[in-house]
Amino acid sequence: MSTPTAPVAPAGARVVLATHNAGKVRELRSLLAEALPALDVETAVVDAGAVGAPDVVEDGVTFEQNALKKARAVAAHTGLIAVADDSGLAVDVLGGAPGIFSARWAGRHGDDKANLELLLAQLGDVPDEHRGAAFVCAAALATPRGGDHVELGRMPGMLLREPVGDGGFGYDPILRPAGEDRSTAQLSSAEKNAISHRGQAFRALLPHLVAALSADS
Ligand code: IMP
Repeated sequence: MSTPTAPVAPAGARVVLATHNAGKVRELRSLLAEALPALDVETAVVDAGAVGAPDVVEDGVTFEQNALKKARAVAAHTGLIAVADDSGLAVDVLGGAPGIFSARWAGRHGDDKANLELLLAQLGDVPDEHRGAAFVCAAALATPRGGDHVELGRMPGMLLREPVGDGGFGYDPILRPAGEDRSTAQLSSAEKNAISHRGQAFRALLPHLVAALSADS
């Protein structure tokens, strides 16, 4: 039987974010820096690549289940506090779909253009008053000792009939957040973070992360 290789975390690492997305790591670092000024977030918060975290099969049926599963697997593998998120677009007339299938709605994982085009075609006959939708994000943390916590954030809005704006990613060009006259793809990243599903979920998770870090030190 082969001996599993012990994961090596970089010196000073305290929290691992279960993602390879540099934007998400930056976002978490800046939230943590405000909450814990004494923490050196550049060394304390690392991404999945830095610790050789395993790819986790997202076979849950809710955003919360998938986010918790990723966080638990990465905490167990690394011995560090792990944070993970799972997100997507929930369309009212589709009963919450694409939901957890948002990244692969058109069949191929991560094909943003095909996903968005398929969704627009499916909703071609749906009048404006029934085009409500929301971006949803579950942010979860897990500790190596088995503790965990998950929070949900939502950004409601209305689906446009064609893509507008060049910023963002995924379905951003076709969602106009409530109270806005621009699509999410026309907001700056600071404007989007202030109201977004992900910003809300991470801000709600933050006190739990601070508590876990304090208990851990
Ligand atoms: P993941 O949680 O990073 O795997 O994202 C799942 C999918 O949901 C992405 O591929 C996008 O299609 C969609 N999605 C999640 N958050 C956003 C967002 O903020 N803007 C646009 N699309 C998003």
